[in-house]
Amino acid sequence: MARVSFIGLGIMGSGMVSNLLKSGHQVKIWNRSESKSRELEKLGAEVVATPALLAEGADYFMYCLADDAAISEVITGGHKMAELTKPGTIAIDLSTIDPKTSNVERAIYESRGVEFLDAPVFGTKGEARDGGLWVVVGGKEEIYQKALEVLNPISATTHYMGDGGSGTKMKLVGNLLVASQIVSIGEALALAKKAGLDLRKVLEVAAVADFKTPIYAGVGGAVIAGDYEVNFPLRLMLKDSRLIQEFAERLSSPATIAAITEDLAKDGVDAGYGELNASAIVKVIAQRAGVDLSE
Ligand code: NAP
Repeated sequence: MARVSFIGLGIMGSGMVSNLLKSGHQVKIWNRSESKSRELEKLGAEVVATPALLAEGADYFMYCLADDAAISEVITGGHKMAELTKPGTIAIDLSTIDPKTSNVERAIYESRGVEFLDAPVFGTKGEARDGGLWVVVGGKEEIYQKALEVLNPISATTHYMGDGGSGTKMKLVGNLLVASQIVSIGEALALAKKAGLDLRKVLEVAAVADFKTPIYAGVGGAVIAGDYEVNFPLRLMLKDSRLIQEFAERLSSPATIAAITEDLAKDGVDAGYGELNASAIVKVIAQRAGVDLSE
């Protein structure tokens, strides 16, 4: 049993903490909006009043925050958690952020004698709740091996990707694939609707043919049901589409799909869909096409 300090109890972090508790770890939590701590307190987490109180007596310091600005506010600046974390603790960042930000974190931790893993996750609300995430990890391999005691309870599989920053890079590579699938099922459904096809039959084919993916089935089914309940907020998809482009630009690699995704996601956020699921990108595509995809 390990002592875990955890920050960031949003859609993803709250599921992660519940699974850490279920697996017998002792978990202390802090969240900017305190109300989100209360359900986890009922499950056995200890709520602390300030992030600094998480620095003492932790084997692991884990966090799943929204974006680079939140990391700056809580970890590298603002609350200065990277500086306060004690040597001997293993810090694990589960957020999706710019690899450059991850390097800044690592440099501070290393200067303090704290081991650090960048460990962003694939999967969404359901996988976080069920301990079924797919975690991609960068850092020292022996630290990854040790940290499996806290990564296994939140995940279906873990993947050691290589040196520091490799997890964050893999996350952006993977989210490029996610973005392409959401955009392509949206454009395909809009085109099919305009062409007079039955969308249920289109999805039946998409569920079995050699281009099938869980995203086509999941997003496609939800869109025709008019269901945009949030798992992965559109505002975070907009953030990720920008991160992918900046990352690709630094490596002189094309990221045209990320640019298209940003254009669609920005229109969606401007239209007030930022707190809907990222599949609201399809709403924007349907509006541009002048069709209604819901049954
Ligand atoms: P979320 O529900 O928006 O939660 C974000 C968390 O960050 C909340 O605890 C929030 O605190 C905190 N936060 C944001 N800005 C902050 C600041 N300036 N200072 C302190 N705390 C701050 O997001 P999520 O869906 O859990 O996602 C968390 C991370 O996982 C993101 O990097 C996201 O891209 C990534 N991710 C998400 C999914 C998904 O399907 N949702 C899947 C894979 C990866 P408050 O509660 O006070 O707002």
